[in-house]
Amino acid sequence: MRVVVIGAGVVGAAVAAGLTRRGAQVTVLEARTPGAGTSSTSVAWVNANNKTPRAYFDLNQAAVWAHHQLAGDHFFPTGNLECAATDEHRELLEARVTRLIGMGYPVERVTARRALALEPDLVPPPPGTEYVFFPGEAYVHPLRLLGRLLGEARDGGATLECGAEVSAIEASASGAKVTVADGRTFAGDAVVTCAGRWTQHVAALAGLTVPMLDPAVSGTVTNGFLVTTSPVPARLSRVLTTAGLNLRPDGEGGCCCSPCPWTGWPIPPRRCPRRSWPRSWRCCPACCGPPRGPRPSGPWWGSGRCPATGSPWRGSPIPGGGCTRWPRTAGSRWRRC
Ligand SMILES: Cc1cc2nc3c(=O)[nH]c(=O)nc-3n(C[C@H](O)[C@H](O)[C@H](O)COP(=O)(O)OP(=O)(O)OC[C@H]3O[C@@H](n4cnc5c(N)ncnc54)[C@H](O)[C@@H]3O)c2cc1C
Repeated sequence: MRVVVIGAGVVGAAVAAGLTRRGAQVTVLEARTPGAGTSSTSVAWVNANNKTPRAYFDLNQAAVWAHHQLAGDHFFPTGNLECAATDEHRELLEARVTRLIGMGYPVERVTARRALALEPDLVPPPPGTEYVFFPGEAYVHPLRLLGRLLGEARDGGATLECGAEVSAIEASASGAKVTVADGRTFAGDAVVTCAGRWTQHVAALAGLTVPMLDPAVSGTVTNGFLVTTSPVPARLSRVLTTAGLNLRPDGEGGCCCSPCPWTGWPIPPRRCPRRSWPRSWRCCPACCGPPRGPRPSGPWWGSGRCPATGSPWRGSPIPGGGCTRWPRTAGSRWRRC
């Protein structure tokens, strides 16, 4: 079977690798370069921590497991340490922990001493702070994962065309013809759209309607901000989540952070608001708090445009995928083919 995959983000790469593994003849068409979309602006935290309803949790949990199976030098099974320093956060955490334990999710309530053993450079937060460790969680290095999946696809005979922006899709009884901006055409028995936040546009080329939320006007499930910092002279070895900031190591001694208060801001702004950074960082009980904490460097923002259902998987013929869900999404796309 010949399959044209549109988009070389992590979803497209996972789909391409999964299809070639199953014997398909795959062509990946990428408008720019692999990872040029949302995949390179992701915290890439692998978890099923706060996913509801149950079916969505199950999908994410299965994907966490699949990531552990895939393993490799892109994958960091560090677990996630969550610190709850306010009454509101403690209440929410308690309810979530009870729910997750009931569903068999790996959860450990830990003491401040154990939290410090896990993260020795944690600045001790105020007395009363609660700590929960989620040992099954992890993070990935998205571009390394992309390299691995695309490499696997190429080894299996797939071809990757970069700078190939799809501009037309014509369906016929014998398959589909996909045209790119420079006029080249590619034939396939099936076409899989993995265009992330451009899904609506690409689907429309095939005469399909996929309602999407508009990142310029909405809302928590649509937009997230990502900040990478200058190198931090401290040990941060895992995903650390708080009410104000989620962060993880970024490989070069810096941190990759997603400041929660900025989640849901309409996009643009193109740059994260500099003045808000110290305030956001103060929310974090980690190592180098202000005033001489790390400075933000970049990239600055990312948008994961979602189907209009608000849930990135439900009720849409072309589901979007978070980092956690990539392996599972790949499987379901294959079945659809
Ligand atoms: C700040 C932030 C933090 C996040 N944190 C997490 C997290 O911790 N855990 C998690 O699981 N998820 C997280 N996500 C979500 C996750 O990163 C995305 O869901 C995922 O990267 C989407 O991958 P994708 O391959 O679907 O899309 P993209 O990576 O956007 O890939 C789509 C590709 O399609 C290409 N394309 C578009 N149009 C065309 C065309 N016409 N022709 C050819 N190619 C085209 C684009 O150039 C792009 O390369 C986060 C997102 C953001 C923004």
